This record gives sequence, C-alpha cells and structure tokens, in this order.
Amino acid sequence: MQAGDYNDRADVEHFINGARTRGTGQRSQVVYNPATGEEARRLLMGEAADVDAAVLSAKKAFPAWSNTPPIRRARVMLRFLELMNKHRNELAAIITAEHGKVFSDAQGEVARGIDVIEFACGIPQLLKGDYTEQVSTGMDNWTVRQALGVVAGITPFNFPCMVPCWMFPVAIAAGNTFILKPSERDPSASLYMAMLLKEAGLPDGVFNVVQGDKAVVDALLVHPDVKAVSFVGSTPIARYIYETGAHYGKRVQALGGAKNHMVVMPDADIDQAVDALIGAGYGSAGERCMAISVAVLVGDVADKIVPKLAERTRSLVIGNGMDSASEMGPIVTRQARERIEGYIEVGLREGAELVVDGRGVVVEGYENGFFTGGTLFDHVTPSMQIYKDEIFGPVLSCVRVKDFSEAVNLINEHEFGNGVACYTRDGNVAREFGRRIEVGMVGINVPIPVPMAWHGFGGWKSSLFGDMHAYGEEGVRFYTKQKSIMQRWPESTEKGAEFAMPTSK
Ligand code: NAD
Repeated sequence: MQAGDYNDRADVEHFINGARTRGTGQRSQVVYNPATGEEARRLLMGEAADVDAAVLSAKKAFPAWSNTPPIRRARVMLRFLELMNKHRNELAAIITAEHGKVFSDAQGEVARGIDVIEFACGIPQLLKGDYTEQVSTGMDNWTVRQALGVVAGITPFNFPCMVPCWMFPVAIAAGNTFILKPSERDPSASLYMAMLLKEAGLPDGVFNVVQGDKAVVDALLVHPDVKAVSFVGSTPIARYIYETGAHYGKRVQALGGAKNHMVVMPDADIDQAVDALIGAGYGSAGERCMAISVAVLVGDVADKIVPKLAERTRSLVIGNGMDSASEMGPIVTRQARERIEGYIEVGLREGAELVVDGRGVVVEGYENGFFTGGTLFDHVTPSMQIYKDEIFGPVLSCVRVKDFSEAVNLINEHEFGNGVACYTRDGNVAREFGRRIEVGMVGINVPIPVPMAWHGFGGWKSSLFGDMHAYGEEGVRFYTKQKSIMQRWPESTEKGAEFAMPTSK
C-alpha cells in the first residue's frame, strides 16, 4: 500500500475476507471532523448479513491459521509492526481528523498500540505449555493453550487505534481469527490497520472489520460461531455485552467507564501535582478512560492548589489538533459537547463552585468546531451527580477531605474503579494507598498509570465485567483455552481395567 492510498475513497467501508467492501447495508452515517464541524467521510453501516459474511470468512480461515506454527504467525506480526512504524504519522493524522485529539497525543496513542503488537510478536514463548514428566509410573502430563476460533472486538471512539490493538494482535498471534466492530464516530483507523495487516501477509479472512452500530454488535453477540467477545466502552453497554454474550455461551471481557481520582497529600510537590492534574484532566479533552476527573485535596492542599489549577485551566490553548500549539482539541461530536456542557449546568444547580467555566469557547477559523474549554469545579461533594457520573469531557471536580483515610474511603465507595493516583513524598502513605485502594490500576506520583503491554489493563467494580484484563498474559489466556493431556505407553504385560480413581503410583 502506498501512503495516502487510504484517502482514495470518501466512504468508510468494511473489510471482509481480505478486501474492502461496501457490504449489504442500506444505511450510512456521517463521520465528522470535529475541529471544523464538517462532514469528513460517510460510514457504510453494516447489518447482520455483513456479520454473517465476516464470520464465514473468519471461520474458513481458522483451521489453516491456527495450524500455522506460532513462529510464522509471529513473523506476520513483525511485518505488521514494521508497517505500523512506517505509517505511524498517517495513522495519527487519521485519528486527529476524526477524533479531534491533538496530533502529538494521537502519535502517543499509536505508540501504545504498537507496544502491544511488539508483545504479540513474542507469542511462541507465551504459548509454551507446562510439562510434568512421570506424574504416575510411566505417565506424563502436559498442558497446552489452543486458540478459541472466531473472536470479536467492539471498541469505543476515544482510542480508535490503541484499543483495537489491545485485542487483535494478541488474538491473531494466538491463532484466532478476528472480527472488529469499531466505533462509528472514528472508524477509519481500523480500516487502515486492516490494509496494513493484508500488506504484512496476513491470510484473507483472519482479520475482518464490520462497520456499524448496535445491529452489528447484536449480530455478533448471538452468532453461534463467535466464541469470545472483547468490549471496551461505557458501563451500561459493557454490562449488556457481558450479560448477552454470557447468555449465548461466549467468553466475554467487557471494560466499562471510569471516574478516576487523584489524591494530593499535604506533603506532595504542589507544582508537580498541578501539572499532573492539568495534563490528566484536560488531555484529549478529558475523553480518556484513564483521565483524572476528580482531584481529592487532603487537608490544607485545596487552598494552595485551586488558584494554580484555575490559572492553568483558563490558559489552556484550545484549537485544531493538527495545530502544534494546541493543548486540547475539540469534543468528538456536537451531541457529546452538549452532554458535557449540560453537566456544568447540573453542577451549578447542585451548588458546586464553578471556578472556571469552559462553555462558549470559540476558536478563530473553526467557528463550527465542537469546542469547549476546560472547566474547574471546587467544593464538589460525593452526593452530587457531577461527582457520581462519568462526564467524559474536560471537567475537573475538586473534592476537599480532611485526611488520608477519608480520601481512601471516598474512592473505595465510588461505583467505578478503573484508575487512580496519589501524589505524596511519604513512602508509607504511598505503600498503604497501593494496598488499600479498590481500583485496578494505581499510580504513585503517576497521573495516568496505563500498564505496559506485558502487564495487562483492567479496572475493578463497574469498570470491568469478566475475569480477564486486556492484553498482557491475561489477554493470551483470554484468547486461548487450556487443554491437559496425559499420556502413557504401557508395556504389553500391563494388567486390565482399573475401577478406582487413578492416583499416582
Ligand atoms: P459506547 O459504549 O457508546 O460505545 C462503545 C461501542 O459500543 C461502540 O463500538 C458502539 O458502536 C457500541 N454500542 C454503543 N451503543 C450500543 C448499544 N446500545 N448496543 C450495542 N452496542 C453499542 O462508548 P464510547 O462513547 O464510544 O466510548 C467512551 C466510553 O468508553 C467511556 O465510558 C469510557 O470510559 C469507556 N472506555 C473505557 C475504557 C476502559 O479500558 N475501561 C477504555 C476506553 C474507553
């Protein structure tokens, strides 16, 4: 594929059996460039018949692909890795054009996706089983992990490259064939990666993309040939995917929403904490599942930190993500901006102090873009809706607490448990925080503790339904099933049937 080839067509298509296709659906939907507010492309919406075609293609490809030696599957991944590195800037530009995040952030997203591809290149080592010689006299026992078959991934808008990469490189390297249903708001990155996988030599049918909405998701959930579903998105849909998928006998991992807190202890370096809160609160316009949306200010920290936060929030540079001066791009859609700004109204009604109001921002030259500014609330309390709900926008809420225990209890009582951070200079506080906090991913002086590719990603409580985290060794386990084999080659003089439970002799 030549760079720029992706842009040769205005419609975003499906990718089934190794080729771009318009599918059977009659519906289409606009994909916006959120910085200009203009139509960027048209997305062809898939239907159940397109899912059937993709599953059939993936099912046909499975026997040969799963029988391909892991080292050869890894070599395809290595070629894909090279192509991803070569085209990382084109991919980042596609992300910025449809999602809105600033280009450097999109480059970072691609880099974190590439990390997982690198991890998947080690699949021969990861699939190595266990072996015990002589479990009984003349008998050996070993375990292997085998691919499941056709598996599916359903992904959110906020990381259109990285989140699919949490799933398909590991699934495919492990020998499965894959169907991806990307977000309908920024679907191009998935199609672009499908084209790179083909160029890397992946056999047709091993990776498919079916574009669309609930119609496609529901067809995947009930399809008898789909063995497992990975989902990342909001909590109500994650719960639905988990329950429906389980009902139809599938293995499911469903990662949901978040409300991530950052505790600032009185001994913390205040300037470092301000930098962390501004970057983690407003980076990607707060549209990250690991964004910090609550600052938990302990003791006298609030009076020191809130004025500094206010100053920095007011001076955020908001603009088109392709402009290198921009620190924060637009919101993904007009509706999402309305929802976020609606929450600011709710916060005011609930009695929170609106320190900085981000509403009404107009960016020169981009008057129709979906922009909103950074918003800062102080004196937010746990009973307020703006504290309980995931707003998923650039709105940072400050909650004041008297001590460390109150901070820990506050966080542990929240519905979500995705990420959390604690800023302190006290090693004992840091250690206690890590031990007591009921959250899946913890940062000590690290605002966005997204685990590396070999550690696995996942929250607790309503932030994850299912047993396995995404990627890392948990990902390998999710996409494979264990088989245990016992073997004996008896000598011909062995005695006849045994009726007691076999024990080792
Ligand atoms: P979303 O739940 O609206 O959509 C996610 C996917 O589900 C999309 O592919 C969408 O087409 C599909 N979908 C939407 N409604 C559906 C329905 N009724 N039935 C079946 N499928 C449906 O999420 P989003 O707005 O795209 O993404 C933002 C959300 O994702 C936030 O809540 C964020 O916290 C969460 N998220 C979580 C993680 C994590 O790792 N926990 C990572 C990224 C994003």
